[in-house]
Amino acid sequence: MTKPVLLTVDDDPGVSRAVARDLRRRYGEGHRVVRASSGKEALDALKELKLRGEQVAAMLADYRMPEMNGIEFLEQAMDLFPRARRALLTAYADTDAAIQAINLVDVDHYLLKPWDPPEEKLYPVVDALIETWRAAGETAVDEIKIVGHRWSAPTFAARDFLARNAVPYRYYSIDEPEGRRLLDAAAADPAEIPVVITTDGRPLLAPSDAEIAAAVGLTVDPATDFYDLIVVGGGPAGLGSAVYGASEGLRTVLVERQAAGGQAGQSSRIENYLGFPDGVSGAQLTDRARRQAVKFGAEMLTARDVVALEVHGSARVVRFGDGSRIAAHAVILATGVSYRSLAAPGCHELTGRGVYYGSANTEAPECAGTDVYIVGGANSAGQAAVFFSKHARSVTLVVRGESLHTSMSHYLIQQLEAIANVHVRTRTTVGQACGDDHLESIRLDHADGTTEFVDTGHLFVFIGALPRTDWLDGVVRRDERGFVWTGPDLLTDGRRPSGWTLDRDPFYLESSVPGVFVAGDVRAQSVKRVASAVGEGAMAVTLVHRYLEEQ
Ligand SMILES: Cc1cc2nc3c(=O)[nH]c(=O)nc-3n(C[C@H](O)[C@H](O)[C@H](O)COP(=O)(O)OP(=O)(O)OC[C@H]3O[C@@H](n4cnc5c(N)ncnc54)[C@H](O)[C@@H]3O)c2cc1C
Repeated sequence: MTKPVLLTVDDDPGVSRAVARDLRRRYGEGHRVVRASSGKEALDALKELKLRGEQVAAMLADYRMPEMNGIEFLEQAMDLFPRARRALLTAYADTDAAIQAINLVDVDHYLLKPWDPPEEKLYPVVDALIETWRAAGETAVDEIKIVGHRWSAPTFAARDFLARNAVPYRYYSIDEPEGRRLLDAAAADPAEIPVVITTDGRPLLAPSDAEIAAAVGLTVDPATDFYDLIVVGGGPAGLGSAVYGASEGLRTVLVERQAAGGQAGQSSRIENYLGFPDGVSGAQLTDRARRQAVKFGAEMLTARDVVALEVHGSARVVRFGDGSRIAAHAVILATGVSYRSLAAPGCHELTGRGVYYGSANTEAPECAGTDVYIVGGANSAGQAAVFFSKHARSVTLVVRGESLHTSMSHYLIQQLEAIANVHVRTRTTVGQACGDDHLESIRLDHADGTTEFVDTGHLFVFIGALPRTDWLDGVVRRDERGFVWTGPDLLTDGRRPSGWTLDRDPFYLESSVPGVFVAGDVRAQSVKRVASAVGEGAMAVTLVHRYLEEQ
Protein backbone atom coordinates (compact mmCIF):
# COMPACT_ATOMS: atom_id res chain seq x y z
CA MET A 1 0.00 0.00 0.00
CA THR A 2 1.44 3.41 -0.95
CA LYS A 3 1.98 5.97 1.81
CA PRO A 4 -0.39 8.96 1.90
CA VAL A 5 1.16 12.17 0.64
CA LEU A 6 1.93 15.40 2.47
CA LEU A 7 2.32 18.11 -0.14
CA THR A 8 4.08 21.39 0.44
CA VAL A 9 4.26 24.25 -2.03
CA ASP A 10 6.42 27.37 -1.61
CA ASP A 11 8.17 29.49 -4.25
CA ASP A 12 11.13 30.21 -1.95
CA PRO A 13 13.48 27.22 -2.37
CA GLY A 14 15.01 27.69 1.09
CA VAL A 15 11.64 27.70 2.85
CA SER A 16 10.36 24.86 0.69
CA ARG A 17 13.36 22.68 1.57
CA ALA A 18 13.03 23.51 5.26
CA VAL A 19 9.31 22.59 5.44
CA ALA A 20 9.91 19.34 3.55
CA ARG A 21 12.85 18.48 5.84
CA ASP A 22 10.82 19.10 9.00
CA LEU A 23 7.88 17.11 7.65
CA ARG A 24 10.06 14.16 6.62
CA ARG A 25 11.74 14.04 10.01
CA ARG A 26 8.50 13.47 11.83
CA TYR A 27 6.15 11.96 9.26
CA GLY A 28 8.54 10.33 6.76
CA GLU A 29 7.97 6.78 7.98
CA GLY A 30 4.23 6.77 7.35
CA HIS A 31 3.95 9.45 4.65
CA ARG A 32 5.52 10.56 1.43
CA VAL A 33 6.49 14.22 1.38
CA VAL A 34 6.10 15.87 -2.04
CA ARG A 35 7.55 19.35 -2.61
CA ALA A 36 6.63 21.86 -5.33
CA SER A 37 7.91 25.38 -6.05
CA SER A 38 4.77 26.86 -7.62
CA GLY A 39 1.03 26.39 -7.64
CA LYS A 40 1.14 25.03 -11.18
CA GLU A 41 3.86 22.51 -10.37
CA ALA A 42 1.89 21.39 -7.31
CA LEU A 43 -1.31 20.99 -9.35
CA ASP A 44 0.55 18.89 -11.93
CA ALA A 45 1.89 16.71 -9.13
CA LEU A 46 -1.62 16.33 -7.70
CA LYS A 47 -3.00 15.28 -11.11
CA GLU A 48 -0.35 12.58 -11.34
CA LEU A 49 -1.14 11.40 -7.81
CA LYS A 50 -4.85 11.29 -8.67
CA LEU A 51 -4.24 9.16 -11.77
CA ARG A 52 -2.00 6.80 -9.80
CA GLY A 53 -4.76 6.37 -7.24
CA GLU A 54 -2.65 7.73 -4.38
CA GLN A 55 -4.02 9.55 -1.34
CA VAL A 56 -3.15 13.06 -0.28
CA ALA A 57 -3.56 13.59 3.45
CA ALA A 58 -2.61 17.26 3.72
CA MET A 59 -1.44 20.21 1.64
CA LEU A 60 0.60 23.11 3.03
CA ALA A 61 0.67 26.09 0.67
CA ASP A 62 2.51 29.36 0.94
CA TYR A 63 0.15 32.31 0.64
CA ARG A 64 2.40 34.74 -1.25
CA MET A 65 3.45 33.10 -4.52
CA PRO A 66 3.70 34.78 -7.93
CA GLU A 67 1.18 33.81 -10.66
CA MET A 68 -0.99 31.68 -8.39
CA ASN A 69 -1.22 32.47 -4.69
CA GLY A 70 -1.77 29.85 -2.00
CA ILE A 71 -5.52 30.42 -1.81
CA GLU A 72 -5.97 30.09 -5.57
CA PHE A 73 -3.88 26.92 -5.50
CA LEU A 74 -5.87 25.36 -2.66
CA GLU A 75 -9.12 26.22 -4.42
CA GLN A 76 -8.06 24.23 -7.48
CA ALA A 77 -6.40 21.48 -5.45
CA MET A 78 -9.72 20.89 -3.66
CA ASP A 79 -11.28 19.94 -6.98
CA LEU A 80 -8.81 17.06 -7.25
CA PHE A 81 -8.54 16.01 -3.59
CA PRO A 82 -11.54 17.39 -1.72
CA ARG A 83 -10.76 15.32 1.39
CA ALA A 84 -7.13 16.39 1.74
CA ARG A 85 -6.74 18.79 4.66
CA ARG A 86 -5.39 22.26 3.94
CA ALA A 87 -3.07 24.72 5.67
CA LEU A 88 -1.85 28.10 4.52
CA LEU A 89 1.65 29.38 5.34
CA THR A 90 1.70 33.12 5.85
CA ALA A 91 3.99 35.88 7.01
CA TYR A 92 2.76 37.96 9.94
CA ALA A 93 1.80 40.84 7.66
CA ASP A 94 -0.60 38.65 5.69
CA THR A 95 -2.52 37.38 8.65
CA ASP A 96 -5.71 39.24 7.79
CA ALA A 97 -5.81 37.95 4.23
CA ALA A 98 -5.18 34.46 5.47
CA ILE A 99 -7.96 34.62 8.03
CA GLN A 100 -10.40 35.69 5.34
CA ALA A 101 -9.16 32.80 3.20
CA ILE A 102 -10.23 30.37 5.86
CA ASN A 103 -13.79 31.15 4.93
CA LEU A 104 -13.13 31.30 1.21
CA VAL A 105 -11.45 27.93 0.65
CA ASP A 106 -12.23 26.21 3.89
CA VAL A 107 -8.61 26.17 5.06
CA ASP A 108 -8.24 24.11 8.24
CA HIS A 109 -5.30 26.05 9.68
CA TYR A 110 -2.90 28.81 8.92
CA LEU A 111 0.72 28.68 9.98
CA LEU A 112 2.85 31.74 10.67
CA LYS A 113 6.35 31.78 9.24
CA PRO A 114 8.83 31.02 10.71
CA TRP A 115 7.40 27.95 12.46
CA ASP A 116 10.42 27.22 14.66
CA PRO A 117 10.53 25.18 16.74
CA PRO A 118 8.47 22.76 14.63
CA GLU A 119 7.59 20.65 17.68
CA GLU A 120 5.57 23.58 18.96
CA LYS A 121 4.36 25.38 15.90
CA LEU A 122 4.31 22.99 12.94
CA TYR A 123 3.75 19.44 14.19
CA PRO A 124 0.65 20.05 16.30
CA VAL A 125 -1.04 21.58 13.26
CA VAL A 126 0.03 18.80 10.88
CA ASP A 127 -0.94 16.16 13.47
CA ALA A 128 -4.41 17.66 13.57
CA LEU A 129 -4.63 17.77 9.76
CA ILE A 130 -3.64 14.11 9.44
CA GLU A 131 -6.01 13.05 12.20
CA THR A 132 -8.97 14.80 10.55
CA TRP A 133 -8.07 13.28 7.19
CA ARG A 134 -7.78 9.76 8.71
CA ALA A 135 -11.19 10.09 10.29
CA ALA A 136 -12.68 10.51 6.80
CA GLY A 137 -11.47 6.94 6.01
CA GLU A 138 -10.20 7.39 2.47
CA THR A 139 -8.21 4.50 0.97
CA ALA A 140 -5.74 4.32 -1.88
CA VAL A 141 -6.82 2.70 -5.15
CA ASP A 142 -3.91 0.85 -6.66
CA GLU A 143 -5.96 -0.97 -9.30
CA ILE A 144 -6.53 -0.07 -12.91
CA LYS A 145 -9.27 2.54 -13.14
CA ILE A 146 -11.88 2.95 -15.87
CA VAL A 147 -13.71 6.24 -16.15
CA GLY A 148 -16.79 6.05 -18.33
CA HIS A 149 -20.53 6.11 -18.50
CA ARG A 150 -23.12 3.46 -17.96
CA TRP A 151 -24.72 4.02 -21.36
CA SER A 152 -21.52 4.27 -23.36
CA ALA A 153 -20.96 1.21 -25.56
CA PRO A 154 -17.16 1.68 -25.70
CA THR A 155 -17.10 1.89 -21.88
CA PHE A 156 -19.01 -1.38 -21.68
CA ALA A 157 -16.61 -2.99 -24.19
CA ALA A 158 -13.53 -1.91 -22.21
CA ARG A 159 -14.99 -3.16 -18.91
CA ASP A 160 -16.03 -6.44 -20.50
CA PHE A 161 -12.58 -6.86 -22.06
CA LEU A 162 -10.80 -6.41 -18.71
CA ALA A 163 -13.29 -8.57 -16.82
CA ARG A 164 -13.01 -11.40 -19.35
CA ASN A 165 -9.23 -11.24 -19.14
CA ALA A 166 -9.47 -11.46 -15.34
CA VAL A 167 -7.79 -8.07 -14.90
CA PRO A 168 -9.15 -6.34 -11.76
CA TYR A 169 -10.21 -2.72 -12.17
CA ARG A 170 -12.26 -0.07 -10.43
CA TYR A 171 -14.98 1.71 -12.35
CA TYR A 172 -15.85 5.41 -11.98
CA SER A 173 -18.79 7.02 -13.71
CA ILE A 174 -18.42 10.54 -15.09
CA ASP A 175 -21.74 11.23 -13.34
CA GLU A 176 -19.92 10.97 -10.00
CA PRO A 177 -17.55 13.59 -8.58
CA GLU A 178 -14.54 11.22 -8.38
CA GLY A 179 -15.09 10.21 -12.02
CA ARG A 180 -15.08 13.86 -13.05
CA ARG A 181 -11.96 14.51 -10.98
CA LEU A 182 -10.16 11.65 -12.72
CA LEU A 183 -11.31 12.92 -16.10
CA ASP A 184 -9.91 16.38 -15.25
CA ALA A 185 -6.64 14.91 -14.02
CA ALA A 186 -6.32 13.00 -17.32
CA ALA A 187 -7.11 16.22 -19.24
CA ALA A 188 -9.81 14.23 -21.06
CA ASP A 189 -13.09 15.30 -22.56
CA PRO A 190 -16.32 13.31 -21.83
CA ALA A 191 -16.36 12.48 -25.55
CA GLU A 192 -13.11 10.56 -25.06
CA ILE A 193 -14.46 7.94 -22.64
CA PRO A 194 -13.59 5.39 -21.64
CA VAL A 195 -10.43 6.63 -20.01
CA VAL A 196 -8.40 3.69 -18.76
CA ILE A 197 -5.83 4.63 -16.12
CA THR A 198 -3.00 2.18 -15.54
CA THR A 199 -1.69 1.36 -12.07
CA ASP A 200 1.28 3.67 -12.65
CA GLY A 201 -1.10 6.53 -13.46
CA ARG A 202 -0.93 6.60 -17.27
CA PRO A 203 -4.26 7.66 -18.82
CA LEU A 204 -5.36 6.05 -22.12
CA LEU A 205 -8.16 7.95 -23.85
CA ALA A 206 -10.70 5.80 -25.76
CA PRO A 207 -8.13 3.01 -26.18
CA SER A 208 -8.46 -0.06 -28.40
CA ASP A 209 -8.46 -3.57 -26.87
CA ALA A 210 -4.86 -4.03 -28.03
CA GLU A 211 -3.79 -0.77 -26.36
CA ILE A 212 -5.53 -1.75 -23.13
CA ALA A 213 -4.01 -5.23 -23.28
CA ALA A 214 -0.48 -3.88 -23.72
CA ALA A 215 -0.91 -1.28 -20.98
CA VAL A 216 -2.24 -3.70 -18.36
CA GLY A 217 0.47 -6.27 -18.92
CA LEU A 218 -1.25 -8.84 -21.15
CA THR A 219 1.04 -10.33 -23.80
CA VAL A 220 0.27 -8.94 -27.24
CA ASP A 221 3.51 -9.50 -29.15
CA PRO A 222 4.92 -12.89 -30.08
CA ALA A 223 8.34 -13.74 -28.65
CA THR A 224 9.54 -15.15 -31.96
CA ASP A 225 8.36 -15.44 -35.57
CA PHE A 226 8.42 -19.23 -36.01
CA TYR A 227 6.75 -21.92 -33.90
CA ASP A 228 5.98 -25.61 -34.13
CA LEU A 229 2.30 -24.89 -33.60
CA ILE A 230 0.04 -21.84 -33.83
CA VAL A 231 -3.38 -22.19 -32.23
CA VAL A 232 -5.91 -19.62 -33.42
CA GLY A 233 -8.64 -18.98 -30.83
CA GLY A 234 -8.52 -19.23 -27.04
CA GLY A 235 -11.81 -20.98 -26.22
CA PRO A 236 -11.92 -24.50 -24.72
CA ALA A 237 -10.68 -26.08 -27.97
CA GLY A 238 -7.77 -23.65 -28.32
CA LEU A 239 -6.85 -23.87 -24.64
CA GLY A 240 -7.00 -27.67 -24.86
CA SER A 241 -4.66 -27.58 -27.86
CA ALA A 242 -2.27 -25.20 -26.10
CA VAL A 243 -2.09 -27.35 -22.95
CA TYR A 244 -1.46 -30.58 -24.87
CA GLY A 245 0.82 -28.96 -27.48
CA ALA A 246 3.07 -27.25 -24.96
CA SER A 247 3.09 -30.16 -22.52
CA GLU A 248 4.19 -32.48 -25.32
CA GLY A 249 7.16 -30.31 -26.19
CA LEU A 250 5.83 -28.32 -29.16
CA ARG A 251 6.80 -24.63 -29.26
CA THR A 252 3.22 -23.42 -29.07
CA VAL A 253 1.64 -19.99 -29.37
CA LEU A 254 -2.07 -19.33 -28.88
CA VAL A 255 -3.56 -16.23 -30.50
CA GLU A 256 -6.81 -14.87 -29.10
CA ARG A 257 -8.79 -11.98 -30.52
CA GLN A 258 -10.45 -10.87 -27.33
CA ALA A 259 -10.17 -12.87 -24.15
CA ALA A 260 -9.33 -16.49 -23.42
CA GLY A 261 -12.31 -18.68 -22.60
CA GLY A 262 -14.38 -18.03 -25.70
CA GLN A 263 -18.07 -18.74 -25.28
CA ALA A 264 -17.44 -20.99 -22.30
CA GLY A 265 -15.67 -18.11 -20.56
CA GLN A 266 -18.97 -16.24 -20.64
CA SER A 267 -20.99 -19.03 -19.12
CA SER A 268 -22.07 -18.27 -15.57
CA ARG A 269 -22.22 -21.97 -14.66
CA ILE A 270 -21.23 -25.02 -16.66
CA GLU A 271 -22.92 -27.93 -14.92
CA ASN A 272 -22.18 -30.80 -17.29
CA TYR A 273 -18.40 -30.69 -17.69
CA LEU A 274 -16.74 -33.85 -16.43
CA GLY A 275 -15.12 -33.59 -13.02
CA PHE A 276 -17.13 -30.64 -11.68
CA PRO A 277 -20.17 -32.17 -9.93
CA ASP A 278 -21.15 -28.80 -8.45
CA GLY A 279 -20.66 -26.94 -11.73
CA VAL A 280 -17.93 -24.48 -12.56
CA SER A 281 -18.11 -20.92 -13.83
CA GLY A 282 -16.66 -20.28 -17.27
CA ALA A 283 -14.31 -17.70 -15.77
CA GLN A 284 -12.89 -20.23 -13.30
CA LEU A 285 -12.46 -22.93 -15.89
CA THR A 286 -10.73 -20.46 -18.20
CA ASP A 287 -8.41 -19.19 -15.50
CA ARG A 288 -7.29 -22.72 -14.63
CA ALA A 289 -6.79 -23.69 -18.27
CA ARG A 290 -4.87 -20.52 -19.04
CA ARG A 291 -2.53 -21.03 -16.09
CA GLN A 292 -2.08 -24.66 -17.06
CA ALA A 293 -1.13 -23.73 -20.63
CA VAL A 294 1.32 -21.07 -19.47
CA LYS A 295 2.83 -23.48 -16.92
CA PHE A 296 3.68 -25.89 -19.73
CA GLY A 297 5.32 -23.05 -21.68
CA ALA A 298 2.63 -22.04 -24.17
CA GLU A 299 2.75 -18.40 -25.22
CA MET A 300 -0.64 -16.66 -25.02
CA LEU A 301 -1.26 -13.56 -27.14
CA THR A 302 -4.35 -11.53 -26.29
CA ALA A 303 -6.24 -8.92 -28.32
CA ARG A 304 -4.66 -10.13 -31.57
CA ASP A 305 -7.01 -10.80 -34.47
CA VAL A 306 -5.90 -13.32 -37.07
CA VAL A 307 -7.08 -12.09 -40.46
CA ALA A 308 -5.36 -14.43 -42.94
CA LEU A 309 -3.84 -17.87 -43.30
CA GLU A 310 -1.25 -18.46 -46.01
CA VAL A 311 0.65 -21.51 -47.16
CA HIS A 312 4.31 -21.03 -48.07
CA GLY A 313 5.85 -24.42 -48.80
CA SER A 314 5.89 -26.34 -45.54
CA ALA A 315 5.31 -23.16 -43.49
CA ARG A 316 1.80 -22.19 -42.39
CA VAL A 317 1.71 -18.41 -42.03
CA VAL A 318 -0.78 -16.48 -39.92
CA ARG A 319 -1.29 -12.76 -40.51
CA PHE A 320 -2.56 -10.34 -37.85
CA GLY A 321 -4.84 -7.33 -38.29
CA ASP A 322 -1.84 -4.95 -38.14
CA GLY A 323 -0.15 -6.78 -41.04
CA SER A 324 2.52 -8.56 -38.96
CA ARG A 325 2.90 -12.34 -39.31
CA ILE A 326 4.11 -15.44 -37.56
CA ALA A 327 4.65 -18.89 -39.05
CA ALA A 328 4.68 -22.49 -37.88
CA HIS A 329 4.92 -26.07 -39.07
CA ALA A 330 1.25 -26.59 -38.16
CA VAL A 331 -1.85 -24.59 -37.27
CA ILE A 332 -4.95 -25.50 -35.27
CA LEU A 333 -8.02 -23.40 -36.06
CA ALA A 334 -10.17 -23.16 -32.92
CA THR A 335 -12.07 -19.96 -33.63
CA GLY A 336 -15.47 -21.21 -32.45
CA VAL A 337 -18.57 -19.22 -33.19
CA SER A 338 -19.86 -15.72 -32.40
CA TYR A 339 -23.33 -14.66 -31.41
CA ARG A 340 -25.85 -13.94 -34.10
CA SER A 341 -27.22 -10.46 -33.74
CA LEU A 342 -30.88 -9.61 -33.30
CA ALA A 343 -32.22 -7.94 -36.42
CA ALA A 344 -35.10 -6.08 -34.71
CA PRO A 345 -35.02 -2.30 -35.27
CA GLY A 346 -33.13 -0.41 -32.56
CA CYS A 347 -31.02 -3.37 -31.42
CA HIS A 348 -27.94 -2.44 -33.39
CA GLU A 349 -27.97 1.20 -32.20
CA LEU A 350 -28.47 0.19 -28.55
CA THR A 351 -25.87 -2.60 -28.41
CA GLY A 352 -23.70 -2.05 -25.33
CA ARG A 353 -26.26 0.48 -24.04
CA GLY A 354 -28.91 -1.92 -22.78
CA VAL A 355 -28.77 -4.59 -25.49
CA TYR A 356 -26.03 -7.14 -24.82
CA TYR A 357 -24.81 -10.31 -26.51
CA GLY A 358 -23.80 -13.01 -24.09
CA SER A 359 -24.10 -12.87 -20.36
CA ALA A 360 -22.28 -9.57 -19.88
CA ASN A 361 -21.60 -10.40 -16.24
CA THR A 362 -20.22 -6.90 -15.70
CA GLU A 363 -23.82 -5.68 -16.01
CA ALA A 364 -25.11 -7.81 -13.13
CA PRO A 365 -24.90 -5.10 -10.43
CA GLU A 366 -26.73 -2.64 -12.71
CA CYS A 367 -29.63 -5.10 -13.00
CA ALA A 368 -30.38 -5.03 -9.26
CA GLY A 369 -34.09 -4.48 -8.71
CA THR A 370 -34.89 -4.16 -12.44
CA ASP A 371 -36.82 -6.26 -14.98
CA VAL A 372 -34.44 -8.11 -17.30
CA TYR A 373 -35.35 -9.76 -20.62
CA ILE A 374 -33.40 -12.60 -22.19
CA VAL A 375 -33.97 -13.71 -25.78
CA GLY A 376 -33.37 -17.37 -26.64
CA GLY A 377 -34.48 -20.82 -25.64
CA ALA A 378 -31.22 -22.79 -25.51
CA ASN A 379 -28.99 -23.68 -22.55
CA SER A 380 -26.97 -20.48 -22.78
CA ALA A 381 -30.14 -18.40 -22.33
CA GLY A 382 -31.30 -20.65 -19.49
CA GLN A 383 -28.00 -20.29 -17.63
CA ALA A 384 -28.16 -16.54 -18.03
CA ALA A 385 -31.72 -16.50 -16.62
CA VAL A 386 -30.59 -18.44 -13.53
CA PHE A 387 -27.66 -16.05 -13.10
CA PHE A 388 -29.60 -12.80 -13.50
CA SER A 389 -32.48 -14.02 -11.31
CA LYS A 390 -30.10 -13.53 -8.36
CA HIS A 391 -29.71 -9.84 -9.20
CA ALA A 392 -32.83 -8.63 -11.00
CA ARG A 393 -36.38 -8.12 -9.73
CA SER A 394 -37.63 -10.33 -12.52
CA VAL A 395 -36.19 -12.19 -15.51
CA THR A 396 -38.31 -12.96 -18.56
CA LEU A 397 -37.15 -15.47 -21.16
CA VAL A 398 -38.49 -14.57 -24.60
CA VAL A 399 -38.71 -17.79 -26.62
CA ARG A 400 -39.82 -18.11 -30.23
CA GLY A 401 -40.75 -21.83 -29.94
CA GLU A 402 -43.75 -23.56 -28.36
CA SER A 403 -41.81 -24.63 -25.28
CA LEU A 404 -38.32 -24.88 -23.86
CA HIS A 405 -38.31 -28.66 -23.99
CA THR A 406 -37.07 -28.93 -27.57
CA SER A 407 -34.09 -26.61 -27.06
CA MET A 408 -32.98 -26.65 -23.40
CA SER A 409 -31.56 -29.38 -21.14
CA HIS A 410 -34.01 -30.91 -18.70
CA TYR A 411 -31.92 -30.01 -15.62
CA LEU A 412 -32.00 -26.32 -16.56
CA ILE A 413 -35.74 -26.28 -17.20
CA GLN A 414 -36.24 -27.78 -13.73
CA GLN A 415 -33.97 -25.12 -12.19
CA LEU A 416 -35.86 -22.33 -13.92
CA GLU A 417 -39.24 -23.69 -12.84
CA ALA A 418 -38.08 -23.51 -9.22
CA ILE A 419 -37.11 -19.82 -9.37
CA ALA A 420 -40.02 -17.53 -8.51
CA ASN A 421 -38.83 -14.43 -10.35
CA VAL A 422 -38.15 -16.17 -13.69
CA HIS A 423 -40.95 -16.09 -16.28
CA VAL A 424 -41.06 -17.70 -19.72
CA ARG A 425 -42.92 -16.13 -22.67
CA THR A 426 -43.11 -18.75 -25.43
CA ARG A 427 -44.21 -18.09 -29.05
CA THR A 428 -42.89 -14.57 -28.61
CA THR A 429 -40.15 -12.56 -30.31
CA VAL A 430 -38.59 -9.14 -29.73
CA GLY A 431 -39.86 -6.82 -32.51
CA GLN A 432 -38.17 -3.56 -31.55
CA ALA A 433 -35.77 -2.01 -29.05
CA CYS A 434 -36.60 1.57 -28.04
CA GLY A 435 -34.67 4.32 -26.26
CA ASP A 436 -32.70 7.44 -27.04
CA ASP A 437 -29.26 7.05 -25.54
CA HIS A 438 -30.01 3.74 -23.83
CA LEU A 439 -32.59 0.96 -23.90
CA GLU A 440 -35.85 1.94 -22.24
CA SER A 441 -38.40 -0.53 -23.59
CA ILE A 442 -38.90 -3.38 -26.04
CA ARG A 443 -41.80 -4.50 -28.18
CA LEU A 444 -42.82 -8.12 -27.77
CA ASP A 445 -44.53 -9.70 -30.79
CA HIS A 446 -46.72 -12.70 -30.00
CA ALA A 447 -47.50 -15.52 -32.43
CA ASP A 448 -51.23 -14.68 -32.28
CA GLY A 449 -50.45 -11.31 -33.92
CA THR A 450 -50.73 -9.16 -30.77
CA THR A 451 -47.92 -6.92 -29.59
CA GLU A 452 -47.03 -5.20 -26.32
CA PHE A 453 -44.40 -2.73 -25.12
CA VAL A 454 -42.62 -3.52 -21.84
CA ASP A 455 -40.21 -1.28 -19.93
CA THR A 456 -36.71 -2.63 -19.50
CA GLY A 457 -33.13 -1.38 -19.50
CA HIS A 458 -31.54 -4.78 -20.07
CA LEU A 459 -31.97 -7.16 -22.97
CA PHE A 460 -29.56 -10.09 -23.23
CA VAL A 461 -29.52 -11.93 -26.55
CA PHE A 462 -28.67 -15.62 -27.02
CA ILE A 463 -30.05 -16.60 -30.41
CA GLY A 464 -27.45 -18.94 -31.77
CA ALA A 465 -24.12 -18.33 -33.29
CA LEU A 466 -22.18 -18.38 -36.55
CA PRO A 467 -18.55 -19.08 -37.35
CA ARG A 468 -16.82 -15.93 -38.56
CA THR A 469 -14.46 -17.54 -41.04
CA ASP A 470 -14.61 -15.26 -44.09
CA TRP A 471 -10.89 -14.72 -43.71
CA LEU A 472 -10.39 -18.41 -44.58
CA ASP A 473 -12.25 -18.05 -47.87
CA GLY A 474 -10.32 -19.72 -50.70
CA VAL A 475 -7.81 -21.27 -48.29
CA VAL A 476 -9.66 -24.14 -46.59
CA ARG A 477 -12.94 -25.81 -47.61
CA ARG A 478 -15.95 -24.59 -45.63
CA ASP A 479 -19.67 -25.43 -45.69
CA GLU A 480 -22.31 -22.92 -46.79
CA ARG A 481 -22.51 -21.40 -43.29
CA GLY A 482 -18.74 -21.06 -42.90
CA PHE A 483 -17.98 -24.12 -40.74
CA VAL A 484 -14.69 -25.76 -41.77
CA TRP A 485 -14.79 -29.27 -43.26
CA THR A 486 -12.30 -31.83 -41.97
CA GLY A 487 -11.18 -35.45 -42.39
CA PRO A 488 -13.58 -37.93 -44.01
CA ASP A 489 -16.10 -35.15 -44.74
CA LEU A 490 -13.64 -33.75 -47.30
CA LEU A 491 -13.77 -36.89 -49.45
CA THR A 492 -16.25 -36.96 -52.32
CA ASP A 493 -16.86 -40.52 -53.53
CA GLY A 494 -13.52 -41.43 -51.98
CA ARG A 495 -11.72 -38.63 -53.87
CA ARG A 496 -9.46 -36.25 -51.92
CA PRO A 497 -10.16 -32.47 -52.02
CA SER A 498 -8.71 -30.52 -54.93
CA GLY A 499 -5.24 -29.14 -54.19
CA TRP A 500 -4.54 -31.90 -51.65
CA THR A 501 -0.83 -32.72 -52.06
CA LEU A 502 -0.17 -35.69 -49.78
CA ASP A 503 -0.32 -39.37 -50.55
CA ARG A 504 -2.84 -40.08 -47.81
CA ASP A 505 -6.35 -39.00 -46.86
CA PRO A 506 -6.74 -35.99 -44.55
CA PHE A 507 -6.53 -36.98 -40.89
CA TYR A 508 -9.77 -36.91 -38.92
CA LEU A 509 -9.46 -33.23 -37.80
CA GLU A 510 -7.34 -32.04 -40.71
CA SER A 511 -8.69 -29.40 -43.09
CA SER A 512 -8.30 -29.36 -46.87
CA VAL A 513 -4.80 -27.92 -46.31
CA PRO A 514 -2.30 -30.45 -44.90
CA GLY A 515 -0.95 -29.33 -41.53
CA VAL A 516 -3.96 -27.09 -40.79
CA PHE A 517 -6.21 -28.75 -38.22
CA VAL A 518 -9.60 -27.73 -36.85
CA ALA A 519 -11.06 -28.22 -33.37
CA GLY A 520 -14.25 -27.27 -31.56
CA ASP A 521 -17.35 -25.38 -32.61
CA VAL A 522 -15.86 -23.99 -35.85
CA ARG A 523 -15.52 -27.51 -37.28
CA ALA A 524 -18.34 -28.60 -39.54
CA GLN A 525 -20.56 -31.25 -37.92
CA SER A 526 -18.89 -30.86 -34.50
CA VAL A 527 -20.80 -31.29 -31.26
CA LYS A 528 -21.15 -27.85 -29.66
CA ARG A 529 -20.01 -28.64 -26.13
CA VAL A 530 -17.15 -27.68 -23.82
CA ALA A 531 -16.07 -31.30 -23.37
CA SER A 532 -15.99 -32.08 -27.08
CA ALA A 533 -14.11 -28.83 -27.83
CA VAL A 534 -11.44 -29.65 -25.23
CA GLY A 535 -11.28 -33.24 -26.50
CA GLU A 536 -10.86 -32.16 -30.10
CA GLY A 537 -8.16 -29.70 -29.06
CA ALA A 538 -6.21 -32.54 -27.46
CA MET A 539 -6.82 -34.89 -30.35
CA ALA A 540 -5.73 -32.30 -32.92
CA VAL A 541 -2.34 -32.09 -31.19
CA THR A 542 -1.85 -35.85 -31.57
CA LEU A 543 -2.61 -35.50 -35.27
CA VAL A 544 -0.16 -32.57 -35.48
CA HIS A 545 2.56 -34.94 -34.16
CA ARG A 546 1.66 -37.50 -36.83
CA TYR A 547 1.79 -34.80 -39.49
CA LEU A 548 5.19 -33.54 -38.27
CA GLU A 549 6.61 -37.07 -38.36
CA GLU A 550 5.86 -37.16 -42.09
CA GLN A 551 7.80 -33.96 -42.79
C1 LIG B 1 -23.41 -18.69 -22.44
C2 LIG B 1 -23.01 -20.07 -22.90
C3 LIG B 1 -23.13 -21.14 -22.04
C4 LIG B 1 -22.72 -22.42 -22.43
N1 LIG B 1 -22.84 -23.44 -21.54
C5 LIG B 1 -22.38 -24.67 -21.87
C6 LIG B 1 -22.45 -25.73 -20.94
O1 LIG B 1 -22.97 -25.60 -19.82
N2 LIG B 1 -21.94 -26.93 -21.30
C7 LIG B 1 -21.36 -27.15 -22.51
O2 LIG B 1 -20.87 -28.24 -22.75
N3 LIG B 1 -21.31 -26.15 -23.43
C8 LIG B 1 -21.80 -24.92 -23.14
N4 LIG B 1 -21.76 -23.92 -24.06
C9 LIG B 1 -21.15 -24.19 -25.38
C10 LIG B 1 -19.62 -24.15 -25.27
O3 LIG B 1 -19.23 -23.00 -24.54
C11 LIG B 1 -18.97 -24.14 -26.63
O4 LIG B 1 -19.33 -25.32 -27.31
C12 LIG B 1 -17.44 -24.08 -26.52
O5 LIG B 1 -17.05 -22.88 -25.87
C13 LIG B 1 -16.77 -24.14 -27.89
O6 LIG B 1 -15.41 -23.95 -27.73
P1 LIG B 1 -14.46 -23.47 -28.92
O7 LIG B 1 -13.11 -23.33 -28.33
O8 LIG B 1 -14.64 -24.35 -30.08
O9 LIG B 1 -15.01 -22.05 -29.38
P2 LIG B 1 -15.30 -20.69 -28.60
O10 LIG B 1 -15.63 -20.97 -27.18
O11 LIG B 1 -16.29 -19.99 -29.44
O12 LIG B 1 -13.91 -19.92 -28.64
C14 LIG B 1 -13.37 -19.42 -29.83
C15 LIG B 1 -12.37 -18.32 -29.53
O13 LIG B 1 -11.68 -17.96 -30.71
C16 LIG B 1 -11.51 -16.55 -30.76
N5 LIG B 1 -11.39 -16.15 -32.16
C17 LIG B 1 -12.32 -16.24 -33.13
N6 LIG B 1 -11.84 -15.79 -34.30
C18 LIG B 1 -10.56 -15.41 -34.06
C19 LIG B 1 -9.54 -14.86 -34.89
N7 LIG B 1 -9.74 -14.66 -36.19
N8 LIG B 1 -8.35 -14.55 -34.33
C20 LIG B 1 -8.12 -14.79 -33.01
N9 LIG B 1 -9.07 -15.32 -32.19
C21 LIG B 1 -10.27 -15.62 -32.71
C22 LIG B 1 -12.77 -16.02 -30.12
O14 LIG B 1 -12.58 -14.70 -29.61
C23 LIG B 1 -13.01 -17.05 -29.01
O15 LIG B 1 -12.39 -16.68 -27.80
C24 LIG B 1 -22.18 -22.63 -23.72
C25 LIG B 1 -22.07 -21.56 -24.61
C26 LIG B 1 -22.48 -20.28 -24.21
C27 LIG B 1 -22.37 -19.14 -25.17
